Amino acid sequence: MKFAMSLGLTLALLAGAGADADAQTFSTRLPRVTLFGRDYVRVEDWARQQGGSARWSIPRQELKVSLPTGPVVLTVDSRKATVKGTTVWLSHPVALKNGSAHLGALDLSTALHPVIAPPRNIANRPVRTIVLDPGHGGRDPGNQEGKRQEKQFTLSFAREVAELLVKAGFKVSLTRNSDSTLDLPVRADLARRRGADLFLCLHFNSADGPGGSNVRGTETYCMTPVRASSTNARGEGAGAGAYPGNRFDAKNMLLAFQIQKMLTEKIGLEDRGVKRARFQVLRDAEMPAVLIEAAFMTNPSDARRIYDPVLRRPVAQAIVDGVLAYKKVVER
Ligand SMILES: [Zn+2]
Repeated sequence: MKFAMSLGLTLALLAGAGADADAQTFSTRLPRVTLFGRDYVRVEDWARQQGGSARWSIPRQELKVSLPTGPVVLTVDSRKATVKGTTVWLSHPVALKNGSAHLGALDLSTALHPVIAPPRNIANRPVRTIVLDPGHGGRDPGNQEGKRQEKQFTLSFAREVAELLVKAGFKVSLTRNSDSTLDLPVRADLARRRGADLFLCLHFNSADGPGGSNVRGTETYCMTPVRASSTNARGEGAGAGAYPGNRFDAKNMLLAFQIQKMLTEKIGLEDRGVKRARFQVLRDAEMPAVLIEAAFMTNPSDARRIYDPVLRRPVAQAIVDGVLAYKKVVER
C-alpha cells in the first residue's frame, strides 16, 4: 500500500498537472488481477465505473464497450483498440480470464482514459503557440522515391500547415524553413525556446519489400508512457525510464488521437492507428508533442496526396482541425 501511494505520487509529479494526475490514478480504484506479471482490470468493472456497459460479439472475440463518451471496441489477444471509431494501439493484448476480458491497467490509464476522460489545461493557459518540425533536411533526405525526397515534401507540407494554423489564430513557427541540416536534439530544444504549447513533427512514410506499395495510410505517434511498451517491434520494451516528454503522457495521447481521427475520417486515409514510440523528438519535448506519418510515399494513391499540392492541402487542413479539436477539449 505504501508503495502504491508513493508510486501514485511520483506519477502525479511526473504528470505535472492535476488533470493529468487524475488520468494516471483513476484505475487504481478498480479491483486488479495479475496476469503475465502485470496488473489487469476486468473490462466490465471499468465499463460500469465509467457509467457504461460491455457486450460481447458472437463468437466471443470482440467486446464492445459503450461509454457515455463514445464506444470502445476491444479484441481478445489483440493490442488493437478502436476508440470512438479511431484505432489506438495498446501496450499489451486484451486477455481472457475466467470468461472475462481484461485490460492492462497501464493501458487503461495511458491509452484509453486520456481520450474518453480527457485532461484539461490549467485555467488561462490557452493553446496558442505551435512549432512545426518538417522531418529531415539538408544532408538527411529522409525517404527517397526516385528523385523525390521526403525532406522536400515535409517542408512544403509544414509551410501549408503553418499558413492554415495562422489563419485559425495560432502563433506558428518552423524548426527549419529551408533545406538545412538540423540535428534531432536541436528540434525539440527550438520548440522549448520558442515557448511552444504544442510541437508537431511532420513526416511521410515508406514500406519496402514485396507488397510494400500496397501499404498505405496514416500513423500518428506519441511518446511511450513510462513502463509501457512502444508499438513497433523495433521500439523499446517496458522498463524504459522517464523522459521530459512523459510529463505530458495524457495530452500527447489526446493530441495524437484528435489528429489521427481527422486525417482518417475527413481525408479517408487508411487508419493505421495512434502508435507510441520513444523517438528522440518526442522524448525531449517539453510540451505536448506528436510525430505524424501522414501517408506513404511508396503507395500510389497516398503518394498523390503527398506530391500534388492541391490534394495535399486538405491533409494539412485535417491536421489543423485535429489541433482545433484538441484545443477545444483541453480548454473546456
Ligand atoms: Zn521521416
